[in-house]
Amino acid sequence: MKFGGTSVADGARVRHVAELAKKHRDSGNEIVLVTSALSGVTDMLLKNAREASENGKTSSIKEFIADLTKQHHKAAHDAIDSNSNVEKVIRELDSRIEELEKALIGICYLGELTSRSIDYISSYGERLAAPILCGSLNSFGVKSHSFTGGEAGIITTDEYCNAKPLEKTYYLVKERIEPLLKEGIPVIAGFIGENEAGIITTLGRGGSDFSASIIGAAIKADEIWLWKEVNGILTTDPKIVPEARTIPVISYIEAMELSYFGAKVLHPRAIEPAIKHGIPVRVKNTFDPDFPGTIVVKDLKQSRDIVKAVTVIKNVALINISGAGMVGTIGVAARVFSTLANVGVNIIMISQGSSEANISLVVDATHLDAAVKAIKEEFRNGIIKEIAQDRNISVVAVVGAGMANTPGVAGRVFGAMGKAGVNVIMISQGSSQHNISFAVSIESAKKAVQVLHKEFGLEREK
Ligand code: ADP
Ligand code: ASP
Ligand code: MG
Repeated sequence: MKFGGTSVADGARVRHVAELAKKHRDSGNEIVLVTSALSGVTDMLLKNAREASENGKTSSIKEFIADLTKQHHKAAHDAIDSNSNVEKVIRELDSRIEELEKALIGICYLGELTSRSIDYISSYGERLAAPILCGSLNSFGVKSHSFTGGEAGIITTDEYCNAKPLEKTYYLVKERIEPLLKEGIPVIAGFIGENEAGIITTLGRGGSDFSASIIGAAIKADEIWLWKEVNGILTTDPKIVPEARTIPVISYIEAMELSYFGAKVLHPRAIEPAIKHGIPVRVKNTFDPDFPGTIVVKDLKQSRDIVKAVTVIKNVALINISGAGMVGTIGVAARVFSTLANVGVNIIMISQGSSEANISLVVDATHLDAAVKAIKEEFRNGIIKEIAQDRNISVVAVVGAGMANTPGVAGRVFGAMGKAGVNVIMISQGSSQHNISFAVSIESAKKAVQVLHKEFGLEREK
């Protein structure tokens, strides 16, 4: 079971999590808990690290450290029963916070923030939350130890800020964690791992979903449960369409497409480890634990609904590469893609017209400058005449396995956009036909999502 940031927002919520886990254990289940940072902590850590590297003010670090200490001390006192050993947990928190303070001061003096230091600093959110949850369980008489990701056996690549588990993770986690299940509930800090040199890495924002899935796959759990603040995976983001409904059952493929295309409810890689061992993933609401939520499963009987969900990705940018010299020249696309791969740019969408005179790509907005620079360098010789870029876009996607072989879905999608006066900038459909995605201006993304949600009747009870 993984509990996200809102689920462990403060001491009272952590106590609720410990009680919920104990209840499930008492009714005969073996459980591993994966925790996120207390709500908002990761953002604050990143903000302070950035500011330390930019303005070098140690005074603001002192202030931040004081606030962080207060927040975690309070959480520990609220989460842990008073007749239990709160002091031991407080000492553990203090010693971690002291290390964090030193690291932040170091960043102040150095005036630089590498991706390796970003991971180190942001790891503290989960590394402070785990001992509190563990202390809370202990105070309810449940045996528990807390682990960092690396201690639990999550050994990753060196890709800081976006690391992936190495294959040996699966047997290490099994070896270290499985034997503890008989006697209690181990607590593991989500989001973080370490590389082979023992340096802390993170699995990317929202990565505690991924941690839970890795651990679940390693111990061959019966189910992986991700506890959040929403009623499971919904037909779209409820912040955009309040009428969005819970999708009771969804396939692995659909859930992956949804998360790749911006549904913030799942980390984009969270389903991969579960697929490996065919483990069902449940997405549940901590504020309404009896609500069934969503179950993500391997095979799904063909369902009647063609479109399951609508998603939107913000913070993306469009690159348009054009030039008459590209027509009939073999290998241009290959060169573009390998150039971008070499500089670590992830391509979200691709389209090329049959005239071959241009290729359009959508990339993460943070990668735009690096991407454009790399393409310009690669094509110094002139095949490419122009590289245009546009940061003012969002990508909207409709997702559903039922779209495969159903004619007319694209017609309905773009017909609805036309009627709503939304200008479509670029279109792409993968040959799996599980998703149709297109780029629109940032300003019209919300309207596009609302119109599509209505067009496919997603707000109606099935
Ligand atoms: P946690 O970090 O607690 O695990 P998240 O905050 O990552 O949970 O995920 C829940 C958030 O995802 C919600 O606040 C919701 O607004 C957003 N969201 C976006 N798309 C969807 C969707 N299709 N279904 C459910 N929630 C979604
Ligand atoms: N705390 C991390 C984040 O905010 C990881 C997570 O919550 O899943 O991104
Ligand atoms: Mg999340």
